[in-house]
Amino acid sequence: MADLPGIVVTGASGRMGQMLLREIVASARFRLVGAIERAGHDWIGRDVGEAMGGAPLGVTVEDDPLDAFARARAVVDFTSPDATVEFAALAAQARAVHVIGTTGLQPAHLTAISAAARHAVIVRAGNMSLGVNLLVAVTRQVAAALGEDFDIEIVEAHHRAKVDAPSGTALMLGQAAAAGRGVDLDAVSDRGRDGVTGARVPGHIGFASLRGGDIVGEHDVIFAGQGERLVLRHVATDRAIFARGALRAAAWGLDQRPGEYAMTDVLGLG
Ligand code: NAD
Repeated sequence: MADLPGIVVTGASGRMGQMLLREIVASARFRLVGAIERAGHDWIGRDVGEAMGGAPLGVTVEDDPLDAFARARAVVDFTSPDATVEFAALAAQARAVHVIGTTGLQPAHLTAISAAARHAVIVRAGNMSLGVNLLVAVTRQVAAALGEDFDIEIVEAHHRAKVDAPSGTALMLGQAAAAGRGVDLDAVSDRGRDGVTGARVPGHIGFASLRGGDIVGEHDVIFAGQGERLVLRHVATDRAIFARGALRAAAWGLDQRPGEYAMTDVLGLG
């Protein structure tokens, strides 16, 4: 057990944080050496296993990331964009692999993350599931094959507590479709339509977001042509797929050189 690589979970009390903690314990591929929450959180100072309502895990929830990262070879991070940027710099300082699942990252956040990746391995993906990353690869191929007479629309649905839209996964799919067509997504994306919008602009890639209940995550990539429609769909029913993907990324990252990687690199999907 002592030989297993040490891992830290940030945002330990969150939906994904708790899922990661359960997977770490179940998989026995890593040794949990830290659990981080934001300063002032009521889990600080408690054993993380007990805080989750289970058996003690011998790790106390703390709010000092650097101290915890220094004990770890990997950090798995599903928190918020500002927290993730701070963790990227600290994980690089500790030379720990940083697996970033946080979504809603803006260009300034991404620049800071790329700077940290000069010194350590960072694996970042808006969606860590095997199925979605296969969908990304297929979307790129289909977009390249079909051409602009097929309109591309990406529809996603998530639980009512999600704070960013479109989802990180929808944006990944949009990037893949744009790459397949050889265009820049920023130049062709339609983010939500309301009112008299005029006819659809040829070549645009549309996004629509639904929010409600406890939906884990659903994504459709629709290629709508004249007389036929192709729909590629992924439905997540259990958050464990993201946690398992993140731990697979962490294990893979241990053997890589510093740099910024995607889940498609981890899965060998190019
Ligand atoms: P959540 O709100 O349940 O959990 C976020 C946790 O981060 C909270 O416990 C919060 O206290 C903690 N946190 C925030 N700032 C912090 C800080 N400075 N220090 C320490 N902890 C801090 O959210 P969630 O549903 O677990 O999702 C978290 C993120 O992961 C979101 O961006 C979500 O979109 C993303 N997500 C990504 C994937 C993927 O596969 N990449 C899958 C699911 C969710």
